[in-house]
Amino acid sequence: MKIKDLKTPLRGSCHCGVIKFKINTSLRDLRRCNCSICSRKGFVMGSAPMELLTIVSGKKFLSTYKWNSNIAEHYFCKICGINTHHKRRSNPNEYGYNIACIEGFEMSWIENAPYVDNTKMSLVDTNNSKIKK
Ligand SMILES: [Zn+2]
Repeated sequence: MKIKDLKTPLRGSCHCGVIKFKINTSLRDLRRCNCSICSRKGFVMGSAPMELLTIVSGKKFLSTYKWNSNIAEHYFCKICGINTHHKRRSNPNEYGYNIACIEGFEMSWIENAPYVDNTKMSLVDTNNSKIKK
């Protein structure tokens, strides 16, 4: 099986399985980001227009982390802590999602995902970090 064999909608979940989501598009725009939060998470992400990503179950278990400009919203499971998706700061009409959460996907399929240089938007405000619920 390869990336092209993944069926649409893509289905994804967090580690404990309470968060389930589907994406009505194929895996595309795979990349890594070197902003302060993505470099810590270390995952490869894909992108989808917001209307194409649906939370199928477990919405009440999603928590959100925001900081700095508060445009990007990083969603993670309150139970297992896995980051499932985020509203993109560079394109707030799209979600980025953690491709390792996608059913059937294997990280070994990806040798290299390009880096997007987002260091300019990655200031960590350690004195005024805001967590909005
Ligand atoms: Zn979970």
